[in-house]
Amino acid sequence: MDLIIGAGITGLCYALFTNNGYRIVEKEKEIGGYCRTTKRNGFVWDYSGHFFHFQDPEIMESIMSNIEDPDSIANVTKNTSIKYKTKLVDYPFQKNIHQLPQEEFIDCLVDLFSIDSKAGFQNFKEMLYCKFGKSIADKFLIPYNEKLYACNLNNLDKDAMGRFFPYADKEQIILNFRKGKAASYNDTFMYPRGGAIEYVNAVLKGVDSNVIQKETSIKSIDIQNKKAVLSSGEEMEYDNLISTIPFPKLLEIAHIDYDRNIYSWNKVLVFNLGFDKKGPNTTSHWLYFPEKKYSFYRVGFYDNILGQDRTSLYVELGFSKDEEIIPEQWKDKVLDDLVDAGCISSDDKLIDSETIIMDPAYVHITEASKNNVIVLKEYLETFGVYSIGRYGSWTYCSIEDNIKEAKALANKLSN
Ligand SMILES: Cc1cc2nc3c(=O)[nH]c(=O)nc-3n(C[C@H](O)[C@H](O)[C@H](O)COP(=O)(O)OP(=O)(O)OC[C@H]3O[C@@H](n4cnc5c(N)ncnc54)[C@H](O)[C@@H]3O)c2cc1C
Repeated sequence: MDLIIGAGITGLCYALFTNNGYRIVEKEKEIGGYCRTTKRNGFVWDYSGHFFHFQDPEIMESIMSNIEDPDSIANVTKNTSIKYKTKLVDYPFQKNIHQLPQEEFIDCLVDLFSIDSKAGFQNFKEMLYCKFGKSIADKFLIPYNEKLYACNLNNLDKDAMGRFFPYADKEQIILNFRKGKAASYNDTFMYPRGGAIEYVNAVLKGVDSNVIQKETSIKSIDIQNKKAVLSSGEEMEYDNLISTIPFPKLLEIAHIDYDRNIYSWNKVLVFNLGFDKKGPNTTSHWLYFPEKKYSFYRVGFYDNILGQDRTSLYVELGFSKDEEIIPEQWKDKVLDDLVDAGCISSDDKLIDSETIIMDPAYVHITEASKNNVIVLKEYLETFGVYSIGRYGSWTYCSIEDNIKEAKALANKLSN
């Protein structure tokens, strides 16, 4: 019997694809992990905006085949911009510098062509300077990512965002000057009208929900004897233990000695806000805010994504892992900043809201964390303990990656 820890998308997908018997233990009242959705007062809010870009047709099919009404999934042509001083500049910044005022455009272009292509880089910040030049890095890439990650970017691995970082070489940047908006509008994404939980519900159709034990957390694991102790006091034996909880937490409960300084992450405070009417911004899907004067780094517009007639926003603020977050203390500042940024009007009435703290949200990937995760995951696997998922593998990834990883492990371990 396999014991799955966590009923987020990764844990549920492992259950979907395995032939082994299993039990699932989930500490929250509801399944879904970070793909949970709140539905209230006609608003549909995720744990921060969750949009889907499936690249693998097989993975997409494994989800879509369980969605009864294909019209319940919106296919949206992306419209995302950066609030740069008083202007909106298309995202990604580095490919749209021609939209800046002429002097700033020239600075970016000259710096881009002054890069020493032979210079090496050791960390994320150096990578930004080396690949894009000083002006592009200082005007957007560094201030934005410092707000998001809430850390010194020198501490992050040069490849901290993997394939999610929108790289562009000089040629692509120049060619985009002519394509302009058309190129940045090219990308599409999918979004279930009922929120991210609809994807979880689709997976659940192939999972035995009777064996999901909610409001139960795993407290301790005896890896040698393959026994787990649950918060209910129950002691369980297993053949394989599939953990999707944050990797450092797994190390704690499995009594593994490790260097705690290696693991760092940010926390994201999300405000989901619903207003009485449509606001001034009727076209953006989400906006990026590099300037420190705004409390948030990103704001998304569910109403513009789904064609709704009342403003429905998610607003994201980044914090370091040790900062105390008191959401109420941020609310007035967030609302003022939203007016200042043109996301809402001062007479728009807030009629419903909620806050969520994602902890961890973005893990800080460093050379040391990458190496430590590899070594300790291999060690745990020799005892039948497998750590997978965004936080189980301590990485930056999408739900498609989670589904792929869960499927590959299920295939490997299936009897
Ligand atoms: C701000 C933000 C925006 C994102 N946007 C997107 C997006 O647009 N598109 C996209 O594809 N991906 C996005 N992601 C990534 C996506 O959320 C994750 O890849 C995915 O939700 C991870 O699923 P998981 O099952 O691995 O982990 P989780 O969702 O964290 O699930 C782990 C589960 O384990 C449970 N658990 C924890 N500890 C215990 C314990 N001790 N005992 C029992 N259960 C426990 C938790 O309650 C949880 O249900 C985003 C992530 C963030 C932070």
